[in-house]
Amino acid sequence: MSQWGSVSSLVKDVQTRKRTAKELVQQSLKTIKVNEDYKAIIATTEERALKRADEIDRQIAQGEDAGRLAGVPFIAKDNFLAFGADTTAASNILKGFDTPYQATAIERLEAEGAICVAKANLDAFAHGSSTENSDFFATHNPHDKTRVPGGSSGGSAAAVVLDMAPFALGTDTGGSIRLPAAFCGAVGYKPTYGLVSRYGVIAMASSTDVIGPLTRSVEDAALVLDVMAGKDEFDSTTIERGKEGYTDLAGNLKGKKIGLIKEYFDGLDEDVKKVIDAATIKLKKAGAEVVEVSMPSLPLALAVYYIICPAEVSSNLSRYDGQRFGFSAKDVKDIDESYKKSRSQGFGSEAKRRIMIGAYVLSSGYYDAYYKRAQTVRTKLINEFKEAFSNVDFLLGPTAPSTAFKIGQNTDDPLKMYLTDIMTVAVNLVGVPAISVPAGEISGLPVGLQLIAPQKKDRELLEMADKTEELLK
Ligand code: GLN
Repeated sequence: MSQWGSVSSLVKDVQTRKRTAKELVQQSLKTIKVNEDYKAIIATTEERALKRADEIDRQIAQGEDAGRLAGVPFIAKDNFLAFGADTTAASNILKGFDTPYQATAIERLEAEGAICVAKANLDAFAHGSSTENSDFFATHNPHDKTRVPGGSSGGSAAAVVLDMAPFALGTDTGGSIRLPAAFCGAVGYKPTYGLVSRYGVIAMASSTDVIGPLTRSVEDAALVLDVMAGKDEFDSTTIERGKEGYTDLAGNLKGKKIGLIKEYFDGLDEDVKKVIDAATIKLKKAGAEVVEVSMPSLPLALAVYYIICPAEVSSNLSRYDGQRFGFSAKDVKDIDESYKKSRSQGFGSEAKRRIMIGAYVLSSGYYDAYYKRAQTVRTKLINEFKEAFSNVDFLLGPTAPSTAFKIGQNTDDPLKMYLTDIMTVAVNLVGVPAISVPAGEISGLPVGLQLIAPQKKDRELLEMADKTEELLK
């Protein structure tokens, strides 16, 4: 059982002075300390967090409005620019980078009284599916220390499940919120592309990057999304928030049409299939209509993603040259050597791999064969999702092909690691919203159920997920 309860109940406690913001921050910092050996956290922002807590308690004592998230501690993945600790993206090349401004998402949460208490571990620059690609250390799964928490937001997911804070923030470029949520037994929400500003979040693949919450319930995810969502003048890809907002979820399963994604069940692990099948039966009993849906280009999504993503990564990582942010190589004779040495010493092997693949697929000789073709198939995928959504309200499948694997199991074989993302990447290429909710366990390890909705149907998806979560409890 969680020590926190729902986010809205915590806010009520702080506003009615049953508990202080300071107590909550201290409780959070204590839980982080007690669970240190899971290595979910890179740094705490203790001093600043306690100061902010005092300020919020003072506001409340004076009868001022301290906001919709008054006094609630949260943890941000360390690729969010946030005050109070360095921002490293878990990469050596950013070590010592002290941000001059904060991400819009953090600013919006803070404006409503939430308090960032720590920065969570991730695969460096969010490249990975297990958090083992962190340049600093690997994070352990809360259910089994010998296993990975998933990635790349593995620190955030583990932190939430270990009760270090009531919620955490992650980023999802190809599954990095949903996959760790599934592996750790949390709720992970990936909004429609553009619904939450990416300003102040270290870019991975700009055309698929989104920001979202990792929480203990769908209700909490909806509240956090509601505070972060909407247009931002600093990110021109942001879209208007939905008129009704994302809280006070209602909705009904009766009469909803759900499409089981055929391609995600072909050759699926039998145990995972059993868990998803059992959930589907419950949905049917609750009145949903379940049909099978096929999207023939889906098996190509992984290959498409691992061309487009490195292409964008190679471009986004070109700004780290040892001159402007964080690490700079010592003992260099001129600027060229400084660029070379800073990059070769500062980047880890996965970042280098992606820079090389990206530069290759964008090069004049191979652009048509790889990058252009991948974009063509991406358009096909967008059309197939549109077609599917002309027949059903939501799509359903597992979040991952297996439960959490052992630490070290896939580290020697990048392709095997990439295969972990087979059920998450298409959603990012298409820009639609998706959520992973806990659906059950296999030998003590959580299994995630993934629900997907059409673009901008975030509210409908959260309502559906809220009902599904209730059914699966
Ligand atoms: N695992 C995927 C990758 O390594 C997705 C990462 C992410 O969503 N940040 O590219």
